[in-house]
Amino acid sequence: MKNLKNKIHLLEEEIQTREKNKEKKLFLMEMKKIGIERLPYAFSALKQFIDPETMSYHYNKHYKGYVDKLNDALQKKKGGDVELEEIIRNISKYDKTIRNNAGGAFNHALFWKMLSPQTQRPKGDVLSHIEKEFGNFNNFKKKFEQVAKERFGSGWVWLVLTKRNSLKIMSTTNQDNPLMNVIENGGYPILGLDLWEHAYYLKYRNKRDMYIKNFWKAVNWDFVNQLYDTRKKDKVNETKKLQSVILEGKSQRCSKDDTKKIKELFNKNPTVKRIYQSTIQRVLKDIFPEHYYDKGEYSEGQQSGIYDFEGDGRSVINKLNTNYTCFCILLNDINQVMERSKKKKFNFENKTPEEQIEEVKRFVNTLKYFQSRIFDRNSNTFENIMTTLTQTHERGAKTEEIATAIMKKKFGRDNVRIVGELGGSIDMFEDTDAIIKIDGKEYTAQIKPFGQIIEEDDKFIMVDTGQVKPNKTDWLVFQKGKLVFVFDNLLTDIVDGKFTFPTSALLYTIES
Ligand code: FE
Repeated sequence: MKNLKNKIHLLEEEIQTREKNKEKKLFLMEMKKIGIERLPYAFSALKQFIDPETMSYHYNKHYKGYVDKLNDALQKKKGGDVELEEIIRNISKYDKTIRNNAGGAFNHALFWKMLSPQTQRPKGDVLSHIEKEFGNFNNFKKKFEQVAKERFGSGWVWLVLTKRNSLKIMSTTNQDNPLMNVIENGGYPILGLDLWEHAYYLKYRNKRDMYIKNFWKAVNWDFVNQLYDTRKKDKVNETKKLQSVILEGKSQRCSKDDTKKIKELFNKNPTVKRIYQSTIQRVLKDIFPEHYYDKGEYSEGQQSGIYDFEGDGRSVINKLNTNYTCFCILLNDINQVMERSKKKKFNFENKTPEEQIEEVKRFVNTLKYFQSRIFDRNSNTFENIMTTLTQTHERGAKTEEIATAIMKKKFGRDNVRIVGELGGSIDMFEDTDAIIKIDGKEYTAQIKPFGQIIEEDDKFIMVDTGQVKPNKTDWLVFQKGKLVFVFDNLLTDIVDGKFTFPTSALLYTIES
């Protein structure tokens, strides 16, 4: 009996899913065709927002004009039956006429449906998501209006669901749409407002601000939710599918030996390092556009990078491009995928520098290909990378803490302070971990752990110091246990990937 009940329940669920999918398919098909969309209300129906004359002109002259010109232009082009959304998504393949008219046709088809004769309250999943991302609806409204007001000349303002499933307000010029592949950091538009003069001038004249304000009285939140739900579910399914591709295997740990090999590779072949580093920066910007800030955009004097990601402030993920272990993790995990798909694995050993450069180019291309799978928050690889970066950061913080404590004993409690916290003042003192005051003069210092110090031919060579790269601080400070060495950074030399100093560069040896 229980079994039968279960069976019926399962069947019911299946029917429901099928119905939903059918509905979704129909809806998407409707969205894609390049016919003239019927206006879902009378020209006079939106009086709270726009007058009948404008609506009639807007629909009959402007909108139909775009559709006709687009169909004309497409007829001249071979290929025939292309869906409008496909054209929009691949707009770079087409000329300017098609870009303008396909944009015009697509934008207006969406716009008509985004308007409602009845004033609706914002609602549904869209409202929850807006509140989550903008604090409250009013904040969102203000921001949307502000972006709209700032659009100079013809264009549109949009609320967009990004490929990372976050909401974002943006504006496009002319008839461009956020879905066009020529638009940087776009996404799927779920709400939009036409800011061309033809959309408001008869009623509002030069008072575009009033037109923007009155838009809220005519938004069709039912339709906006429909668009949102369709896209969001698509996205979730896609993510799951993609995950299973990259994540069949477990993300690999990296042995000390492997990491050491990467370190050697980077130090001996700076081009390999440069190609990898610039790719990582581009990928992070691409994948987390909503967390990416240009220099000074997040706070005054701050570096460009990813912020407010795992918590408030600068993210540890910014260290990804200089972390050898993470390169090693990416290499191993991508090699798992290569192996599964029976492709040649990446290998940098026993190769000439030129071959290594070719190999890293092939590697970053593959990395870019898999980027949305690798940098998915649920991906095993990503989790491994974040854990590694967090641990490295915490270890570094520990080193700084111990070293400053030891230096405080020597130079006085008030004369030593840590500045190198993520997202803190590090941005103003690039690579500076601490500032030490002696006789009124301040010295900046970078603090590093070390494994061993070797004295050889009037030179000190520091071994196992983590990342080795030149920096601009006055001092380089090394800590191990209760021992601290302070070197004059002006005399630093990097030999075979190791910090090397003439003996005269040693300023202080402090033992606690
Ligand atoms: Fe228009």
